[in-house]
Amino acid sequence: MGKLKQKKDVAPKYKRCPECFARLPLDAERCYSCSQKVEGAGKYGLAKKPFDWTGYIRAIGLWVLLGMYLWWAFFKKG
Ligand SMILES: [Zn+2]
Repeated sequence: MGKLKQKKDVAPKYKRCPECFARLPLDAERCYSCSQKVEGAGKYGLAKKPFDWTGYIRAIGLWVLLGMYLWWAFFKKG
């Protein structure tokens, strides 16, 4: 009875996957739906995405390969 419960300071009970917006428990480290790694909830209860080093390095590697290929192609032509 009475208004004992405050409606302020309601902590979110879940976070959302940044990839597929699946509802995940706050302590989840990986999305059960798309297996995206997730960190703590950020703005609007959306989970933060950890920095994807492998994707980053892969992208750089591809650019380096492309650059090497272009360099090789021009070098070959003389
Ligand atoms: Zn997901």
